[in-house]
Amino acid sequence: MAQTRNLTENVFLLVLALLVSACSASQQDVSPPVEPKYSREAVDHAIQLMGLNEIGAKLRKRESNVRMVMFGAYTPADQRVVEETMEIFANASSSIQFEISPLGPNVRIHFIPLEQLWTDSEKRTRRGRILGICPLRMDDPDFRLASQIYIDKNLPNALRASSIRHYLFHMLGFGHTSAPNSMGNRARRGAATFSSLDRIAIQIFLEEDLKAGMGKEDVLRVLGFAQ
Ligand SMILES: [Zn+2]
Repeated sequence: MAQTRNLTENVFLLVLALLVSACSASQQDVSPPVEPKYSREAVDHAIQLMGLNEIGAKLRKRESNVRMVMFGAYTPADQRVVEETMEIFANASSSIQFEISPLGPNVRIHFIPLEQLWTDSEKRTRRGRILGICPLRMDDPDFRLASQIYIDKNLPNALRASSIRHYLFHMLGFGHTSAPNSMGNRARRGAATFSSLDRIAIQIFLEEDLKAGMGKEDVLRVLGFAQ
């Protein structure tokens, strides 16, 4: 008799344990804990590149596919830099395609003497300081539809690759940062390539859940850093 009751109690306890574990499992399915995919350091770097540190700043980013065509006096080395950079962007995005294609370009990269674009007074003040121009950060309302990048064709080789990468960074929608090793550093000259934090920032920036128009708090929340 005592043995039977023990058995009944054990079966009851087993069923209870199964019920409890099933309940907690289904609760987990409903609201999984948000685990940040990125370090806070990487997110802060991205936030700065996105220009979201200013109060009221909104996220500007490309959300359409990017087809790029190159014009002017570019070298095979320039073309390789553009191709490699577009590949880095393409690998970081699951929703946007990046390609260099003469069909339906929405981004043009011109290799020309920049002095052609300047007025005489600009030539006096800017000579030797501007390596390229990417007008899309200049409050261009057609940001998503069209953009033009101008790289000075007279740049010495040591500056060409980093300048091209810097302006392709702007093409995505990135602004500047004071981080010394970043491709987004305005003062950086002749840098070899993107820093490791830059590469993570590219991935963060191209996350599908980050939408144009979001403020800093929305961006942090989406990335798992509740305010
Ligand atoms: Zn710049």
